[in-house]
Amino acid sequence: MNETTINYYVNEKGYFGDFGGAYIPEMLYPNVEELRQNYLDIIYDPSFQEEFRQLLKDYVGRETPLFYAKRLSERYGTNIYLKREDLNHTGAHKVNNTIGQILLAERLGKTRIIAETGAGQHGVATATVCALRGLECVVYMGEVDIKRQAPNVARMKMLGATVRAATCGSKTLKDATNEAMRDWINNPVDTHYIIGSVVGPHPYPDMVARFQSVISAEIREQLKEKIGRELPDYVLACVGGGSNAMGAFYHFLNDESVKLIAVEAGGHGVNSGMSAATTTLGNEGVLHGSRSILMQTEDGQVIEPHSISAGLDYPGIGPQHAHLFKSGRGEYVNITDDEAMQAGMLLSKLEGIIPAIESAHALAYLEKMKFKGSEQVVVCLSGRGDKDLQTYMDYFKL
Ligand SMILES: *Cc1c(COP(=O)(O)O)cnc(C)c1O
Repeated sequence: MNETTINYYVNEKGYFGDFGGAYIPEMLYPNVEELRQNYLDIIYDPSFQEEFRQLLKDYVGRETPLFYAKRLSERYGTNIYLKREDLNHTGAHKVNNTIGQILLAERLGKTRIIAETGAGQHGVATATVCALRGLECVVYMGEVDIKRQAPNVARMKMLGATVRAATCGSKTLKDATNEAMRDWINNPVDTHYIIGSVVGPHPYPDMVARFQSVISAEIREQLKEKIGRELPDYVLACVGGGSNAMGAFYHFLNDESVKLIAVEAGGHGVNSGMSAATTTLGNEGVLHGSRSILMQTEDGQVIEPHSISAGLDYPGIGPQHAHLFKSGRGEYVNITDDEAMQAGMLLSKLEGIIPAIESAHALAYLEKMKFKGSEQVVVCLSGRGDKDLQTYMDYFKL
């Protein structure tokens, strides 16, 4: 098959190549089906688009700048641009998606929002838009995570959300996800479940990618303005579930000259037993309602991932990423905790921008690339480092 004939986007059945679909319990079928039948009509209704764009502009602060990082460019001997998602309201790209989903929920007549959260970033982004629109918000969070992430729990409470502890199993993200699913099954009529990345059953991965695709739409326009052409040579982004990366890649998927580099969290190293390098360590299977690539034991038990950055500490990747990986369209690499921390310090010193440790993984890969000097390289700076200050302090003994 000729490479250009590969479809990198979702097909009518909700698959990306071999990946995707909706592997869900029978009880959840009506909720997911309602969403599947309506999401495209709602999203592409002109009144939706207008309201979405207006909120992204006036509330989130879009468009975010595409910043030519001069000193970083000099260091690596090429041209590096940072897509400043860190400047969004709430400090990361996640709000692009929660704004989209809350407007969708309203149009579906929903009055109550649920979400799951691990480190609390998605919980905060969800609680934020619920406050904005006056909708009830319940966030499920593992009991262990509630203790570890006190500031984000406080933020959610200030924003009017109820934080419910998941007390089963390891009392972390996957248990919170189970609780949220149970809630949705019990409240199918009035409740919408906001998933925070390009994961979950169809249509979530496609829907979230479309909301986040504003990132690559802006990059194209901004590059055109700055260098006279819309296509960079490289786009780099970190991958937890993969939503900032999918947003940064989306409008370049069919432009094969643009090399897409997805950076996973290597943790202590891929052979250390403490890693989240999904494409290196994982294989095909079903995770959180879709067929994708995940880290699992031979008998299909999910392996506990590790990353110093909470946002990348996830045992899978979204199905569209699995397709980009398997088809070779994307290059999937990994960066260790140590490499990411150094890259975070370097950006702070060279550009006066303290990045989220997640984003620092993407920056760290620049160190491993070979440049001729004429390349145009875009790095998605998914979030700011304020939330990670304690981790930076402990690591560098600041
Ligand atoms: C949550 C988060 C990520 C990881 O999520 P993706 O869905 O992979 O984008 C990356 N960066 C930041 C700043 C985050 O908050």
